[in-house]
Amino acid sequence: MRYFTFLLFFIFCNTLVAQDNFELYYEEAENGFRILADNNEFCPVSAKIDFRLENLNSSNGNNKVFVIPAKTKKYLITDLSVVDRKKAMKLGFSTSYNYGNHNLDTYDKNFKYYLPFGKGKSYWLSQGYNGSTSHQNENALDFKMDMGTKIYAARDGIVVDIEESFSKSCTNPECAKSNNYIVVYHSDGTFAEYTHIRKNGAEVEVGDKIKIGQFIGYSGNVGWATGPHLHFIVFYQRIKDRETLKTKFLIDNGKKAIELVEKEKYQRQY
Ligand SMILES: [Zn+2]
Repeated sequence: MRYFTFLLFFIFCNTLVAQDNFELYYEEAENGFRILADNNEFCPVSAKIDFRLENLNSSNGNNKVFVIPAKTKKYLITDLSVVDRKKAMKLGFSTSYNYGNHNLDTYDKNFKYYLPFGKGKSYWLSQGYNGSTSHQNENALDFKMDMGTKIYAARDGIVVDIEESFSKSCTNPECAKSNNYIVVYHSDGTFAEYTHIRKNGAEVEVGDKIKIGQFIGYSGNVGWATGPHLHFIVFYQRIKDRETLKTKFLIDNGKKAIELVEKEKYQRQY
């Protein structure tokens, strides 16, 4: 194997995944290379890999999204086998990756989400799906609530990411970079993000399994926001973008689940 030349290009795109929690690497094998991945995240990670191969064949395809399960080591992405041992070969690849299974295109549309606040409370939905203030082309919900309001899990899941270090807000979309949030992975492959929580406002940790209706943190007014509120989205993660999804919430006494409408007040009595 030593006389072969190969090139490796690692191009890491903008990603949510901490680099030390996901690693793509190769090992030499009897007839070429094994491309492997370690995923130390609490949810699957998808990696779009474009191999540039000379004199090598990939057993598991090329230029596609490979999904690596949560908490796995040495996950086999593909075997690259040498076509002609007498000839030189090249191995290059570029990749970008992010949370989640990016091949998913169905989700549990009938799941009944809990309103993300305490029992006996009611809040205005100041902006709804595709709202004209800041939710253009985004299925996001804004619950108007004072700083420090207790927020509760809308669905069971596992906490995969938290940002709670920021403290300021501004009205420029650029400020979305300094949003605080809690991201939760659901059993149907979707994620929820609870956004604008106050500084150090998360009362859960990455890796925690949380139950629907569980207290998870305090709302705030941090990042891209015009005032205190909770911005809530459910989404599929794609390599770069998020595809936000409409969901139904239990309202009033919990017997009925509906899609929430802007400028209405909703109460959680369940
Ligand atoms: Zn919003």
